[in-house]
Amino acid sequence: MDTINEMMQGYGIKHTSVEHLNIKCEECNHELKIVTITYTDGTQEEKRAGCVCEATRRANEKQKEINARTFDKGSIMHGDYREKTLDDYQAETKEQSVALRSARKYIDTFDEQMKNRRNIIFQGMFGTGKTHLAAAIRNELSKKNYKALFMSLPDYIDRVKQEFKETNQRHPIYKMAQDADLLVLDDVGANRMTDFEVSELFRLVEARTGKCTVYTTNYDSNDFISSRELHRVFSRMMSNTAVIVLNGDDYREKGLI
Ligand SMILES: [Zn+2]
Repeated sequence: MDTINEMMQGYGIKHTSVEHLNIKCEECNHELKIVTITYTDGTQEEKRAGCVCEATRRANEKQKEINARTFDKGSIMHGDYREKTLDDYQAETKEQSVALRSARKYIDTFDEQMKNRRNIIFQGMFGTGKTHLAAAIRNELSKKNYKALFMSLPDYIDRVKQEFKETNQRHPIYKMAQDADLLVLDDVGANRMTDFEVSELFRLVEARTGKCTVYTTNYDSNDFISSRELHRVFSRMMSNTAVIVLNGDDYREKGLI
């Protein structure tokens, strides 16, 4: 007994008391109790005991947080996009207001979006704020501990090429892009796309089937049907996808939405 007391004092514990709650864990049905630990400095701590469910839940949450930070670090974001939020997005047109509302809804209902595998394409010319909205979605979901990854298509292609040249293997970024709860793929079609880029994009879009992806693009539907290969990519991207146009009526007339 002395030994136990000495041990407890070594941890700064004065005494512990156990209170039986007469309730059972809803998950595993074991009887629960509260252990109150009184430390030698007078502070107290209460811990639920009797089953491992809560400890498991805490461990899972910790793991989720660690994963989220990995995807946060793996994101390739230039300028101050890592700091962008929806609150600092200035909606000046009706379309931008609609886009802002959709982005907010997507974040707030992300579990549902994941279940329904919903994607978004933000489509519009340079300077309409599509990257801001997409970055803000990623940033806010990352803070909520989702595995949220951001990169532009050109940055992604660069990484893939570089690694393939050096090691003859696919870059770890491919695995991350495949695994992310949310992938934001920015700047699809920013330049005229090479065959290699189109085929890598197709591979990635395929790998993301069943997961949530947010694209930004300045391509309109005519650009996307300009070649058979692009058309094939576009068809996949459009599956289960809301197209949010940020650019006035020209784009609507072209029949993208
Ligand atoms: Zn339990």
